[in-house]
Amino acid sequence: MTETPTIGIDLGTTNSAIAHAEDDDIDILPAAMGDRTTPSVVAFDEMAGEALVGRQAVNQAVAHPDRTVFAVKRFMGTEETILLGTRACEFTPEELSGLILRKLKRDAQAYLDRSIENAVITVPAYFNDRQRQATKHAGALAGLDVDRIINEPTAACLAYGLQTAQNKTVLVYDLGGGTFDSSLIEITDGVFEVIGTNGDTRLGGNDWDALIVEWLEDRIKREHDISVSDTPLAESRLFDAAQTAKHELSTRRTTTITIPFLEHEDGATDIEQTLDRETFERMTHELLDTTIERCETLFDQAGYDRSEIDEILLVGGATRMPQVRRRIADRFGVEPSKRINPDEAVAIGAAAQAAILDGEPLPGEPQQPHTSPTETALVSPSDNVVLLDVTPQSFGVELIDRQTYEPYYHVVIERNSPIPARNSYMTTTARDNQTEIEIPVYQGHNERLEENELLDSFELGPIPQRPEGVPNIEVKFILDENGILNVSARDVDHEIGDAIEIQSVFGFTDDELSVMQQNLPEIR
Ligand code: AMP
Repeated sequence: MTETPTIGIDLGTTNSAIAHAEDDDIDILPAAMGDRTTPSVVAFDEMAGEALVGRQAVNQAVAHPDRTVFAVKRFMGTEETILLGTRACEFTPEELSGLILRKLKRDAQAYLDRSIENAVITVPAYFNDRQRQATKHAGALAGLDVDRIINEPTAACLAYGLQTAQNKTVLVYDLGGGTFDSSLIEITDGVFEVIGTNGDTRLGGNDWDALIVEWLEDRIKREHDISVSDTPLAESRLFDAAQTAKHELSTRRTTTITIPFLEHEDGATDIEQTLDRETFERMTHELLDTTIERCETLFDQAGYDRSEIDEILLVGGATRMPQVRRRIADRFGVEPSKRINPDEAVAIGAAAQAAILDGEPLPGEPQQPHTSPTETALVSPSDNVVLLDVTPQSFGVELIDRQTYEPYYHVVIERNSPIPARNSYMTTTARDNQTEIEIPVYQGHNERLEENELLDSFELGPIPQRPEGVPNIEVKFILDENGILNVSARDVDHEIGDAIEIQSVFGFTDDELSVMQQNLPEIR
């Protein structure tokens, strides 16, 4: 047993969960109030200067929508700040996620009665470099060393794989509150090899809620001739009611949506509407289609046929909608497994990865050891369980065509390459006596440069002046096991032993993080 155990954290859009492996078992660690998951919701009480996280934040949300934030994960990796309260208290997505992680850490410490400093945190497989970096930084703000970032579908598959000794090809369909991921994974003698992944970081159960809200607003407008869309409190109550209705429709064929005294510009009106499952499924059909198309693309890219799938795992709370299970079974001809809990599998898998890093035994570890781990493997000390994950997106640079002087996209690391991955390319100057070289780094797999996402642009320099095309500049891309990119460049000919090397930094510096950490409000 390690003194300070590494915990596994599923930092979800809607709910988060923590798990921990000990004594050959993996347990979900309940929150302070006993719940097995913690709502990923933060509120800020500006009078007290304190934050509320989880159930407490949810409980005051209807009364104080302006100081409450849901689904922070949707903002991770962006430069948006979120205003909570009236006194211009702005928070970055990293700070808000850091508060959620701090609360999870506090609850886990209280439950285990041990200090916790290390964590494995999961992210959607389709999270990009910035979003992964932001997650790592959120961990740092919570006082956690993030030992590894792993992909949610991979974690779920690991949780599942620990229960079966058979070799299988598995499709993981992961529909959470705000993100969708699909991954194709081969389990062979304890080796979990991700063949490919596809997804959408802006599609999740919340979009199903939004369509119910639209439907409700339309009905309210028609029947009462009132509009509530400009009233934040009413909007928040509509979303609440929509989510409850969606949950009810997972087990019942009709639901009655009752909202007493719904506020609007001319007063308040009692609302009562009945929604049946058929109507709900019809109006959200296209959302489900999108997820299925993503799975199809995944198969095509990986060169797999649907008939090769042995098992389908449904992960994420939104897969509780019966339409998901039914459509997936129809489309892929395999009844999805009922052996994993869609809310807990990701945290359990993260804890399994944490146990591998800590050298703790895993429950039901496959008996047959695998053969030679490669450089790209995440190897358990017992060498029994190995995760081989891939990067969901390609990374590349903008180069200039030396004939036409047109910019074009040069891919350095292809999507679905196993991680960690490294590659380099040689480049040179485009003008005589150039002393600096600009290296714009992109992420994406579109042939057209402008369709990809510019991650950052950095300069190598000063380099000695030489005629155009003479300098030999080597640019190296290293994608680590967390899927986070490091880029360095050097002037190969410039005084051997005195090469210029620079590192690109996305996100915050350590100093910035330490100031942010000190300024974070206490959690009540
Ligand atoms: P997760 O991010 O995995 O916690 O999933 C959260 C999403 O699952 C939210 O959109 C929830 O509304 C949705 N969800 C949870 N339970 C149910 C249910 N019983 N039926 C439909 N959706 C659900």
